[in-house]
Amino acid sequence: MPVEEDLDQLRSLVAEACRVLAHRGAVDTVLGHVSCRVGEDRMLLRCRGPHERGLRFSTATDVRLLHLDGTPAEEDDGYRPPNEHPIHGETLRRRPEFGAVVHAHPPAVVACSIAGLELRPIFGSWNIPAMRMAERGVPVYQRSVLIRRPDLAAEMLAAMGSSRCCVLAGHGVTVGAASVEEAVVATLDLQALASMTLAVASTGRHPEVVPERDLAELPDLGSELNMAAVWRYYTAAAAADS
Ligand SMILES: [Zn+2]
Repeated sequence: MPVEEDLDQLRSLVAEACRVLAHRGAVDTVLGHVSCRVGEDRMLLRCRGPHERGLRFSTATDVRLLHLDGTPAEEDDGYRPPNEHPIHGETLRRRPEFGAVVHAHPPAVVACSIAGLELRPIFGSWNIPAMRMAERGVPVYQRSVLIRRPDLAAEMLAAMGSSRCCVLAGHGVTVGAASVEEAVVATLDLQALASMTLAVASTGRHPEVVPERDLAELPDLGSELNMAAVWRYYTAAAAADS
């Protein structure tokens, strides 16, 4: 079991992740949440308290320790898990490789899902991780329901398959990763992919995917540039605008 200071650090990280997602427009007002695995059967999850002010103003106090079934694992002092806590608990339970889960509502992703626009590798160097995500294929859970029961989360996870992400049609996204930072960066890559897909679709053109010979030229820039540095940028930008 993590010591108390570790838990506090993780609470701060989850709150920071929420602020980043809000700053980048992937969540709005009080909707959306981030979780982080704690041992085998618990998680830290962004909950809602009596003075809820939305994801943009998340603090470590908003991040509560829960069992994976959503029941509290620490003192109940007025904080409640979001209705969609099974997205987190079931995903962490069924995908042991994930250490963190993001559930967000990026408008561009939702618009693409409503319009039936497939997220394809239509660009290359503009955003290589987002292109790779499209190349691997982004699964879609076709029901626009609020995922407030484990059976609905199981349906979503069946649609997600072995992917790290899933679009929830007319609703948002679920993204899992080893760490909170990776889950947030991947969510924002998915948002970038959808934003460009939407922008291109608005021209009325249906572009070809980037040819194989060009994709083969795209380097793996490594996690320091693609993830760590990008995370530092996101957190600094959110802090600068707070
Ligand atoms: Zn939702």
